Amino acid sequence: MPMSSSYRDRLFPILPEIAANFGTPFHIYDEAGIRQTGLRLQQAFADLPGFREYFAVKALPNPRIMEIMRAMGFGFDCSSAAELTLARQVGAHGDDVMFTSNNTSAAEFLAAQNNGGCLLNLDDISLLPKVPRMPETICFRYNPGPRRSGNSIIGNPVEAKYGVAHHQLIDAYRSAMNRGARRFGLHTMLASNELNYAYMVQTVQMLLDVAAWVGNELGIRFDFVNMGGGLGIPYRPEDQPFKLEALAREVTGLFEDFGARHGYAPRLYMESGRFMTGPHGVLVVKAINRKEIYRHYIGVDASMSALMRPAMYGAYHHIEVLGKPADGPSQVVDVVGSLCENNDKFAIQRELPQIAEGDLLVIQDTGAHGHAMGFNYNGKLRPQELLLRDDGIVELIRRAETEADYLATLRFEPRQMAPKRG
Ligand SMILES: *Cc1c(COP(=O)(O)O)cnc(C)c1O
Repeated sequence: MPMSSSYRDRLFPILPEIAANFGTPFHIYDEAGIRQTGLRLQQAFADLPGFREYFAVKALPNPRIMEIMRAMGFGFDCSSAAELTLARQVGAHGDDVMFTSNNTSAAEFLAAQNNGGCLLNLDDISLLPKVPRMPETICFRYNPGPRRSGNSIIGNPVEAKYGVAHHQLIDAYRSAMNRGARRFGLHTMLASNELNYAYMVQTVQMLLDVAAWVGNELGIRFDFVNMGGGLGIPYRPEDQPFKLEALAREVTGLFEDFGARHGYAPRLYMESGRFMTGPHGVLVVKAINRKEIYRHYIGVDASMSALMRPAMYGAYHHIEVLGKPADGPSQVVDVVGSLCENNDKFAIQRELPQIAEGDLLVIQDTGAHGHAMGFNYNGKLRPQELLLRDDGIVELIRRAETEADYLATLRFEPRQMAPKRG
């Protein structure tokens, strides 16, 4: 199922009041749900010493959410200077932060190594000489190429721009050792929104096989392997939830086997974004127009600047209409925003209850890669973010963008140059 019945039961009765107070549209996140998922993750992996989740900041880069993650003992996976700043603002430093960039710039390396440093996860062997100060611990992102198949969001590893190729891996670690690295990690990220836990078990097996191979060749031990994120959530009512406990059980067995064979075992890191927060957020919008042409259209007060996934991936987001049960009178509609792009649709040819102007629509599972993917094309502004706290209070955790924000980059010191050539 999409949004949990627990979140629905707590949110829906107070939604008209929240909408009246804050105005629509807004994303609203569920602190209790996020904490429950965090606890479930920790309990599932309780038998694996040193297991740690590094929350993928890009999924929901809001400091109030990140404070909740930090309170649960999680680290952060960052891939830009701004994400590093966010992580440090909530008090994460050093090994609490993993920097997994690709096509990394000199400025990003400096941002990663200044202000308390972090675990550096390198995307390519050519980046080694560009690391300003070689850290004691180095990690490489591994791309298995034809050895594995990926999935639809992240693509086939052979075509993916990420990571070090299989045949370069030994050289990469040897070269890092020659530059002073003494501790080692191994990372991969092959799938996104994967609902089949067995795929993830295979990924961990692959990492352990590679760690054993590289370890033997170079006489080193791996401090950790990082299986990436990509755990899926059930966006569609008919989707089966990801079997987290089965993943943890089988993976724990793999580490025990590794330990028996090699006399030690690395720690397991994970960097889930979607699984942690995806189901615990919804986008609440108001129907403002109905239009009947060749199809029926419901116009709402948000556009794809608030949620890109349907337009970008054809992603399904479940929609409920507040106060109108799914088994009542219905109509097949497109739910659309106001952007001048025909893919600005939250739902296409979806059977929904009869919607009237003023109805509140709850677009579900927007807690990861939702607000964060927003943009400003066509002068569309991103909505506010709210948090339904544990104590029942509703807190504004990001204000809505304003026209002044949109125009801010047009205020600058005048500057011009006259090129000497031409
Ligand atoms: C996006 C990303 C993640 C998180 O992916 P989810 O599907 O949200 O779990 C983790 N690691 C890396 C390197 C990423 O790019």
